[in-house]
Amino acid sequence: MRILIIEDEAPLLEQVAAQLREQGYAVDTAADGRTGLYIGQEYPLDAAIVDLGLPDLPGMDVIRQWRAAGCKFPILILTARGRWQDKVEGLEAGADDYLVKPFHTEELLARLRALIRRTGGWTHTVLQCGPVALDIGAQQVTLDGQPVEITAYEYKLLEYLMLHAGTVISKTELTEHLYQEDEDRDSNVLEVLVGRLRRKLDPDRALNPIETLRGRGYRFRLERAAG
Ligand code: CA
Repeated sequence: MRILIIEDEAPLLEQVAAQLREQGYAVDTAADGRTGLYIGQEYPLDAAIVDLGLPDLPGMDVIRQWRAAGCKFPILILTARGRWQDKVEGLEAGADDYLVKPFHTEELLARLRALIRRTGGWTHTVLQCGPVALDIGAQQVTLDGQPVEITAYEYKLLEYLMLHAGTVISKTELTEHLYQEDEDRDSNVLEVLVGRLRRKLDPDRALNPIETLRGRGYRFRLERAAG
């Protein structure tokens, strides 16, 4: 999942970015509105966290310009305590949720996960497709109720595929959403990870959870459980 944070308080920006990276997110950062606006328009984001009080272009204007340009990713705004007008104005400008400073990182992470999950059409924190269940909160995967040992990179890949279960995802899209600009982006690595996920989720080769569509990409093909 690729997240942009726009925040002009450097220590807060660094702290949130570090915590998100620890959770496996690919994180882009901006310390002013114009840079953030550009990143949101040019990069494929899964969500953005936007401070409202920013130098050179206020967060509210960034959000309005993104929405006017057709950017659809969910937006979480950060507001100062007591500024209820900001919350209302932010939501009306196109933000999806808000968090009042100072906040606990756990709350930021929970809200972010909820926003991302809803864009994939999921209402619960556990994504269930056939016998495979992925718990976004605990970052755990089970097969028929039994825990599956999974690495951080395998998890990131599986989470993205399951959030968009039923949809074909190209290798380019996967690379852009899973890795930061400065990371190694060898598409052979993706193939290896998909191969390992297949062996772990389908040891008997009976399920075929991840389908390869030649020249188009991958699709998580097990049906989503109702609810
Ligand atoms: Ca600020």
